[in-house]
Amino acid sequence: MQRFGSRELVENVIRQNLCIGCGACNNLCPYFKSYNGKTTMLFPCTLPEGRCFAYCPKTEVDLDELSAALFHKPYGDDPLGYYRSIMMSRAGARAGHGLFQAGGTVSALMQFALEKRHIDGAILTDRKGIEPTPILATESKDILKCASSKYTAAPTLAALNRAIKEGFGNLGIVSTPCQTLAVAQMRLNPLQENTFRDPTGLVIGIFCTWALDFQAFKVFLSQRIDLAEIRKIDIPPPPAEVMEVFTDCATIEYPLSEIRQLVPEACSYCIDMTAEFSDISVGVMEGRTDMNTLITRTDRGQRIVDEAVSAGYLVLTDLPDENLEHLKWAADNKKKRAFAKAEEKAIVNTPAGTGPSYLRINHATLKKIRGE
Ligand SMILES: Cc1cc2nc3c(=O)[nH]c(=O)nc-3n(C[C@H](O)[C@H](O)[C@H](O)COP(=O)(O)OP(=O)(O)OC[C@H]3O[C@@H](n4cnc5c(N)ncnc54)[C@H](O)[C@@H]3O)c2cc1C
Ligand code: SF4
Ligand code: SF4
Repeated sequence: MQRFGSRELVENVIRQNLCIGCGACNNLCPYFKSYNGKTTMLFPCTLPEGRCFAYCPKTEVDLDELSAALFHKPYGDDPLGYYRSIMMSRAGARAGHGLFQAGGTVSALMQFALEKRHIDGAILTDRKGIEPTPILATESKDILKCASSKYTAAPTLAALNRAIKEGFGNLGIVSTPCQTLAVAQMRLNPLQENTFRDPTGLVIGIFCTWALDFQAFKVFLSQRIDLAEIRKIDIPPPPAEVMEVFTDCATIEYPLSEIRQLVPEACSYCIDMTAEFSDISVGVMEGRTDMNTLITRTDRGQRIVDEAVSAGYLVLTDLPDENLEHLKWAADNKKKRAFAKAEEKAIVNTPAGTGPSYLRINHATLKKIRGE
């Protein structure tokens, strides 16, 4: 991996509209902050190499290096990444109740991991009004409070950096694929710091096709509704093609064709739908909104899933073949589209010495992804 500093982060990521506001560069130093959904550098920093750049999921992402560290193999061409098993799942009777997005698998697994001390706390995304807010949860009730999807990109990893500073290690993290990539980069100890220790005890990645730009979404909604009246926001599965906004006395529907205009450009370069560098990935089950699709990828992910099932926190069933096929098709489409766009912008495998590259990947896999 080529290493650079905050100057290159601003030039190559923020000014190129690649920043998704994941929070990975926040709270490392006093300079990068997230405000109103946007990441900005408050003061210039002259260090030639920084963790801000090294953790960012939108620059110098070496997929082979990450894959070797996590799975001991170069990056492959399976649209879902490396995995051990794929099942259907939902929260079991021992898990608490929350306003789950789907089957509650994510909240149930984090609750189990915290209660059994596999982790000492969980980095999650809560909300204040419609604004997604990162938190460190150290009690099960806080995990349940964070259930449900906030549809805007969130600076979740700002809470991870803050928790590490406060001395926490062994953390659970629930992250979108871009945030999961940043966590995987962080785990490589890219600046070779002597005091480094892997801060993660369990990384649960959630599937993501796109998220909304917070500022744009806030403007969109505030032109149509009193924000203080909003109780819940949902996007029901296809064929609905609407976003539902619930108030105490009404449900208002907005066509997804209007909502998709609010997706930031950064998402169009995102190659990962299923959080390929997590321990466990979770999505909504197609056609069964009370269930999740559950992918286990690592030994520790598999162990926690097995234990959670035995302890009654999680229920598993087989995933029908047609669902698996459709999931692979959707993930492959996203990957192909994003690689094509990134190659068009000349930010894949940029020659060393010419500045940072967004992605680095072995040529054989890239050709297979392209379908050559
Ligand atoms: C922006 C976004 C886009 C998504 N797109 C898809 C998709 O295309 N296909 C699909 O199958 N699933 C998608 N999901 C995932 C899905 O909505 C559920 O998060 C997942 O299936 C887990 O369901 P659950 O019932 O187990 O979650 P719950 O138990 O309700 O837990 C949800 C967890 O998500 C975390 N979270 C919520 N909002 C955010 C956010 N903005 N950023 C980071 N973490 C967050 C919370 O911390 C919480 O722990 C998306 C989620 C988000 C946030
Ligand atoms: S680390 Fe995240 S918030 Fe910071 S510049 Fe990169 S994408 Fe943006
Ligand atoms: S599409 Fe990719 S970049 Fe956009 S929020 Fe989802 S994971 Fe992050």
